[in-house]
Amino acid sequence: MNVIYLDNNATTRLDPAVLDAMLPFLRDHYGNAGSAHTLGHLSEGAVAQAREQVAAMLACAPMELTFNSGGTEGINHAFRGVFEAFPAKRHFVVSLVEHPAVLAVAEWLRRQGAEVTSVGVDGDGRLDLVALEAALRPDTALVSVMAANNETGVLFPLDEIAGLVKGKGALLHVDATQAIGKIPIDTSKLPVDLLNFSGHKFHGPKGVGALYIRRGLRLKPFMLGGHQERGRRGGTENVPGLVGLGKASELAAAHLPEVHRIATLRDHLETDLRARVSELHITGAGSPRLANTSLLSFQGLEGEALLLKLNERGVCVSTGSACTTGQKEPSHVLRAMGVSAAFTGGTIRLSLSRFTTMEEIHQVSEMLPGLVEDLRRSDLFAMA
Ligand code: PLP
Repeated sequence: MNVIYLDNNATTRLDPAVLDAMLPFLRDHYGNAGSAHTLGHLSEGAVAQAREQVAAMLACAPMELTFNSGGTEGINHAFRGVFEAFPAKRHFVVSLVEHPAVLAVAEWLRRQGAEVTSVGVDGDGRLDLVALEAALRPDTALVSVMAANNETGVLFPLDEIAGLVKGKGALLHVDATQAIGKIPIDTSKLPVDLLNFSGHKFHGPKGVGALYIRRGLRLKPFMLGGHQERGRRGGTENVPGLVGLGKASELAAAHLPEVHRIATLRDHLETDLRARVSELHITGAGSPRLANTSLLSFQGLEGEALLLKLNERGVCVSTGSACTTGQKEPSHVLRAMGVSAAFTGGTIRLSLSRFTTMEEIHQVSEMLPGLVEDLRRSDLFAMA
């Protein structure tokens, strides 16, 4: 059975060119980047090249990047680093729709005695900028917002947010995990202090990413140990992974113009479904969104059941955390947006990539209305 992969916000397939770049470092060039022999130098050079490739994508200096294991680690490093570095500032601000990694670290901060203000969003997922401005205080250490939401794809207005935050003298952290490769991120224009992302979200390998730390911002080392990453994150470098991250960054920048084609596919799917399926709510459709994401909520069915039906037909989607296996609670994102309970249970997230074809989208838009109708009918029978 052919697989139609529409779960790219969860993770993406490795670009074949990324695999090709990595293979020599898995097979032959296995030296430790810290070793003084030829194999070591080869690895050291490869890590340096990867740093330049990633820096070119973000328009930053290579030394502003700390390589790590991905989004979750970058978020932990940013928050904990700021918490330790600025003991006189004990107030933090996050949005209500952040990734669980941010929310968990915010909870940890509260347990350490810090105060955390959560800023809400409207029904279209737009950040409440008035509430954000009102939340800022002289003792605000850090404001953390995501560039793009992983469930809805809704984009936050980073320039406006940066203007407010910098105007009040706080640091700004951006979780760009879903944004890289999908929208341009230019740290030379955006006054962001910390920005994290993860290779596997843009056709790179899993378990590798980076935290951008603006030059001049001094954070305590996150992982104590060796001298790696200029002492900020000890531990032998994941050389093949970093080579893959570098190549994926180069490709992400080159393929960025393709987002228009991806938007056409997504819009085609949504237009088709709106015409053929009743009681359909597309969350975040009223806001600027990532071109690849469609969060569909169908009244009167279980998202999990629809996911399983699609899976039987080779289509991979997710419930967008709307209703993870065995858990009937709507996601914190849908709750924050005030999406009606009649819809939240029947949510699936479709997320496309540059490898998605129009043929695949046609197949899915042909398949979905019938599956929705069947499930709604069987739910009615179950209730009778
Ligand atoms: N932040 C966002 C917005 C994400 O979507 C994810 C992953 O789903 C993460 C952070 C965590 O990234 P990682 O899985 O690389 O730790």
